[in-house]
Amino acid sequence: MAAVHHASLLDSVSEASSIRLNNQIYELQSCGIDTITLSLGEAFFDIPAPSFEGMPAHRIHHYSHSRGLPLLREKLAKYYESGTGSPVDPDREVMVTAGSKAALFMTFTALLEPGDEVIIPEPLWVSYPDQVRLARGVPVMTPWQEPVAELAAYVTPRTRAIVVNNPQNPSGRRLAAEELKALHELAEQHGLFIIADEAYHEFMPEGATFVSALEHDPEKRHTVVCNSMSKNYGISGWRIGYLIAHAELAEQILKLQQHMVTCAPTILSYYLAENFETILEQTRPQIQRVVRTRNDMSRLLADRGVSCLPGDSTFYLFASLGASRLGSQEFAERLLNERGVAVVPGIGYGASCERFVRISVGTEPRDRLATGVSAVASLIEETV
Ligand code: PLP
Repeated sequence: MAAVHHASLLDSVSEASSIRLNNQIYELQSCGIDTITLSLGEAFFDIPAPSFEGMPAHRIHHYSHSRGLPLLREKLAKYYESGTGSPVDPDREVMVTAGSKAALFMTFTALLEPGDEVIIPEPLWVSYPDQVRLARGVPVMTPWQEPVAELAAYVTPRTRAIVVNNPQNPSGRRLAAEELKALHELAEQHGLFIIADEAYHEFMPEGATFVSALEHDPEKRHTVVCNSMSKNYGISGWRIGYLIAHAELAEQILKLQQHMVTCAPTILSYYLAENFETILEQTRPQIQRVVRTRNDMSRLLADRGVSCLPGDSTFYLFASLGASRLGSQEFAERLLNERGVAVVPGIGYGASCERFVRISVGTEPRDRLATGVSAVASLIEETV
């Protein structure tokens, strides 16, 4: 076979560990092997399959505005405005993207000069460091124990941005308003950007309030918000996300979008724009249920002596392996092979997270969740 040459940049990037694991689960399922799946990064909702009946064929089959369909941008701007009280200009500050993953990647690419540093607090979402590397930047990870107030110690003359995932995958933690305020002060003081990934912002306990990064920077002087329909609308496979940024930055990011994907899928954007409120009405009660289940499973783990990182939002738990002698990778492999339960090894969320596994409660019914969570606790007890 002829040698395959590739850019050396790719040697510094790994396969996305959570996606590799998901592929493994899909393969097991297709062989008819039953797996209690606590590893998928989404919540399954009961929402009707879309009907495109009556939509104008001459519009939905074709490319559309590369910023995103105007009506969808308008709805997204209103959605954020009503949640944050900060004005959002749908024509200049919003871009619809092929998932928030693309929004984040384009933002890094647009902001970073080679060698620029990006501070990424652990536990981190697996794609941040590799996306930064692909944008020729340098990810600077901070251990999970580091409070927001200490992040200033990681700022150097090369620091360009800080990534904030709020609420956080995998801990379910929401940043307090004072923490966000401190981050914005740090950004102002050192001329940094805050890249706020708010992909799980609907997943909060009833009565809790979500504080968006935009609330502290309504003019978007140093804030880019990336978000998505994947989790909040339960349609991850549609690949529709969006970003909100200062008009000048959005203009630069638009060039990337035009050269990479032209536009987000037109037919799905059209359907979404037309059904924006209806889908949210359908998912919100289901979101409430899944968050309650998350917090019930957290109590179930606590009753078995397993602690999780603090958090009450999303559909994830980041469970400590406590006194188990197994590392997170080996723990997850044994759990899958011996008990048919899939979780994600903590090491994928940063070097400081080796003593954790991520549990997702989004895709299994309650009885199977309880069985899976109990299997986690038992394997910890048996491997002390
Ligand atoms: N951000 C976080 C924190 C995530 O967990 C994910 C997906 O798991 C994404 C972004 C990307 O989601 P999408 O590209 O589907 O919007």
